[in-house]
Amino acid sequence: MFSRPDLFRKKEKVETKTFKCRHCDMEFEDKDRLKKHSKKAHS
Ligand SMILES: [Zn+2]
Repeated sequence: MFSRPDLFRKKEKVETKTFKCRHCDMEFEDKDRLKKHSKKAHS
């Protein structure tokens, strides 16, 4: 069960560089987008 390829796929996904909002759990590929989101949604 623990050696399922799904786990590796998940790990790969985490390795892709994303910027996570610290207020909610949204992720952004662009730092500027995260900034905009943070301002718009959490200001
Ligand atoms: Zn957010």
